[in-house]
Amino acid sequence: MADPIKIAIVGLGKIAHDQHLPSIRANCAFNLVATVSSRNESINKLPHFETLGELLAADVAIDAVALCTPPQVRYTLAAQAIAAGKHVFLEKPPGATLAEVALLDRNAEAAGVTLFASWHSRYAGGVAQARHWLSERNVKRASIVWREDVRVWHPGQDWIWEPGGLGVFDPGINALSIATHILPPFFLTSARLSLPANRAAPIAADLQFETGDGTPVHMDLDWRQTGPQSWDIIVETDGGTLTLAKGGAVLTTPEGTQAGEDREYAGLYAHFAELVRDGVRDVDTAPLQLVADAFLRGHRETVDEFHD
Ligand code: NAP
Repeated sequence: MADPIKIAIVGLGKIAHDQHLPSIRANCAFNLVATVSSRNESINKLPHFETLGELLAADVAIDAVALCTPPQVRYTLAAQAIAAGKHVFLEKPPGATLAEVALLDRNAEAAGVTLFASWHSRYAGGVAQARHWLSERNVKRASIVWREDVRVWHPGQDWIWEPGGLGVFDPGINALSIATHILPPFFLTSARLSLPANRAAPIAADLQFETGDGTPVHMDLDWRQTGPQSWDIIVETDGGTLTLAKGGAVLTTPEGTQAGEDREYAGLYAHFAELVRDGVRDVDTAPLQLVADAFLRGHRETVDEFHD
């Protein structure tokens, strides 16, 4: 068996603690050897650094980094890591702009290292089966409803409301990562973005897309949802209706309902290990492209101020 990939985590926030640390510990293809945190937080007495630069300059051998910071600072960190010859796992979204991600991909290719733009929702329990089921049917229309309470899921995350933080598209891009994986290619035709008067990013969005043959795909994103939360994709086909609920975890077709095991980050790390072993990259920017198009083409309206 090959030696474990020596990996460091950069940015010890919510997702690093909730998912990256346990997933790395559970995967014998990886060995967590260091962490980087501006608060100099340490994990299990491992070597820890305040900046990635300090880690790269230190006498700690690493093969890879997982960048778990907000997207606005991801490019600089990834460029630094690639220049030092390290494989890079990018949290979603892979960057704050499409051009910076394209440049990282070129740099990674030139440096001969793996760059992985991860989309965790594609590994939700029902998604692979939904993709297979839809590949054998014709889609007539699709609807995406992603409504959640920002106060519950993103308390105090100021970066999410700043330019590049994506606002409601931070969860919305998860839906798009599934939709671009299971539906025929589609593009934005119109959008309405609702921005709180005191924020730089939308709190809600209503988007209309269509496929190349004119099949409509509608998306309803809202962060003001209280009570039951919705993370649903409904696809009408010539063979009946498919529903992916709970963020892709629960699949219902005319044949019945199945709930897959939660292996989103286990799946991501298994794939990252394969990419590193095979010496290849996986950088799909389709979900980010659709979000960028919404900002390019969407009508903006100002709505009530939002306070945490
Ligand atoms: P978070 O709780 O705010 O943590 C982000 C961490 O990044 C911070 O704790 C900080 O770590 C570091 N950081 C570096 N520069 C920063 C800056 N300028 N502003 C704020 N933090 C900075 O965010 P998160 O929820 O973990 O999200 C991080 C990324 O993961 C985002 O791209 C998000 O879309 C993605 N993600 C989040 C979730 C989720 O459920 N929260 C799920 C999937 C994906 P130190 O204090 O250690 O330096």
